[in-house]
Amino acid sequence: MAIEQTLILIKPDGAFRKLTGLTIDRLDATGLEMVGAKMIVVTDKLARDHYSSLSDKPFFEDLIKYIRGGYHGISDSRILALVYRGENAIKAVRAVAGATNPEAAAPGTIRGSFGRMNSVTKQFENVIHASSDPTDAAKEVALWFKKEELIP
Ligand code: UDP
Ligand code: MG
Repeated sequence: MAIEQTLILIKPDGAFRKLTGLTIDRLDATGLEMVGAKMIVVTDKLARDHYSSLSDKPFFEDLIKYIRGGYHGISDSRILALVYRGENAIKAVRAVAGATNPEAAAPGTIRGSFGRMNSVTKQFENVIHASSDPTDAAKEVALWFKKEELIP
């Protein structure tokens, strides 16, 4: 069993719809430890660096607008970023997050309970980001947090 760290973002739809507390409740129920938390302004550069592997996707520009709060009236683009740590943290958080498409996410997962397909933009509003594998997690934790901002 590997002790891992994973990055979670409460996306702007989660903040706008007041789902932050409910989401953290589900994350805490995993038994993992929260070792980093901060509100941060998501600059255009940070958004593009975070999603760099998706830059060739047709939904990329909408995704950048979404993660920066552009669809939810969050004019200063702030977001809550968290790091959880523990045994198999990456998979454990993905499991409680649920599938990317909220309509396909299992009931009881964060996305299955709270996510929705926006009927106007046709975008997945899936409440959270969670790192998908150890390579992504290492890149993402380093992108969003300085080492000294995490509990050792
Ligand atoms: N996304 C989307 N449409 C798609 C695929 C992805 O709007 O067909 C958005 C969605 O917000 C998703 C994010 O892009 O969470 C990142 O996509 P990824 O495939 O990495 O899914 P995740 O790792 O978030 O489950
Ligand atoms: Mg992903």
